[in-house]
Amino acid sequence: MTGQAQEYDFFPAQVVRTRRLGPTMLRVTFGGEALHGFASGGRDQSFSLFLPHPGQEAPLLPHQEGEGWFRAWRAVPEQERAVMRSYTVRAQRSSPPEVEVDFALHGTDPADHAPAGPAARWAADAEPGARVVLLGPAVADNRSVGFRPPADADFVLLAADETALPAVGGILDWLPAGTRALVWIEVPDAADVQELTGAGEVDVTWLIREPGSPSGLLTALREAELPAGAPYAWLAGESGTVKELRRHLVRERGVDKRAVSFTGYWRRGASEDRLRAEAYGEPA
Ligand SMILES: Cc1cc2nc3c(=O)[nH]c(=O)nc-3n(C[C@H](O)[C@H](O)[C@H](O)COP(=O)(O)OP(=O)(O)OC[C@H]3O[C@@H](n4cnc5c(N)ncnc54)[C@H](O)[C@@H]3O)c2cc1C
Repeated sequence: MTGQAQEYDFFPAQVVRTRRLGPTMLRVTFGGEALHGFASGGRDQSFSLFLPHPGQEAPLLPHQEGEGWFRAWRAVPEQERAVMRSYTVRAQRSSPPEVEVDFALHGTDPADHAPAGPAARWAADAEPGARVVLLGPAVADNRSVGFRPPADADFVLLAADETALPAVGGILDWLPAGTRALVWIEVPDAADVQELTGAGEVDVTWLIREPGSPSGLLTALREAELPAGAPYAWLAGESGTVKELRRHLVRERGVDKRAVSFTGYWRRGASEDRLRAEAYGEPA
C-alpha cells in the first residue's frame, strides 16, 4: 500500500444540455453526482468518452476494475461494446458538478465533405438525459495534460484545428497574466470563430478552411513573423498537418524539439479505433 491516489477513474454521467456554438461546433454539458470526483487539470486535459450505439440506452462497459478493463472491453463484440473516443474538458464546474465538452460535428451535415463517425453522430443527436461514461482524471496532476511549457520559454505558440479549439480555449484560460501567446486556429466555417478570453497577451489568427481543401495552417505559420526568443509550441489537430507543423518549426525555424508538444487528434481516413489498434499493435 503506497497511499498513492489512483490517477484515472470511470465517471457515469448524462447530458444536461447542449448548445450550438457555430455551424460545426456543439457544446455538450455532462452532469451527475459521480462527476464530483472528476478532477480536471485544466489546459488541454483530455479523457476517454464512452458512448452507446444507436438503440442502446447506455454505453456497454464490462464490469472490470483496474488495468484489466481495456482487454475486457476489447473482448466484447465491436457492435455492442461502447464506442470509445478522446475528448477535451472545455470547462468544469462543481455545484452542480458539470463537465463541458465541445464536439466538432464532422460529416453530420449532408453538405459537409468530411466523413462522419459514431461520436460526431451521437453528439449531433444528443438530448438531455442521454447516458455516457467518462474515463478521466481522479487527480488534477495527471498524464492527460499535455500543455507543459518550460519555465524559460519566451513565448507560447499554439496551432490547432477545430478538434483542438476546446484545448486552446482551456490553455488560454490557464495562461498566467502577461504570458505572450501567438495562436493559429483553423475552423471549417467563419461562423465557428469564437471569442477566447484569458489573462495572457494573446494574438489569435483565425483561418477558415475551404470545404474539401487541405489545411492552411502550415502556410500561415511559414509566413508568420515570430518574435525573438525561444517559443514553447503546442500543436494539435489532424495528424499529417501536425507533423508538418512540427517539422517546419524544428527544421526550418530551428526550434528546440524538446520545446514542441504535438498530438494528432485525428487522422484523415482512419477512425480512432484504427489509431488505437495501431498504437497497441493489434488488428483494428
Ligand atoms: C487528446 C485528444 C483530444 C481531443 N479532443 C477533442 C475535442 O475536444 N473535440 C473534438 O471535436 N474532437 C476532439 N478530439 C478528436 C476526436 O477524438 C476525433 O475527431 C475522433 O475521430 C472523433 O470520433 P468519431 O467517432 O466522430 O469519428 P471516427 O470514427 O474516429 O472517424 C471516422 C472518420 O472521420 C474522420 N474524422 C475524424 N475526425 C474528423 C474531423 N474533425 N474532421 C474531419 N474528419 C474527421 C476520420 O478520419 C475517419 O475517416 C480529440 C482527440 C484527442 C486524441
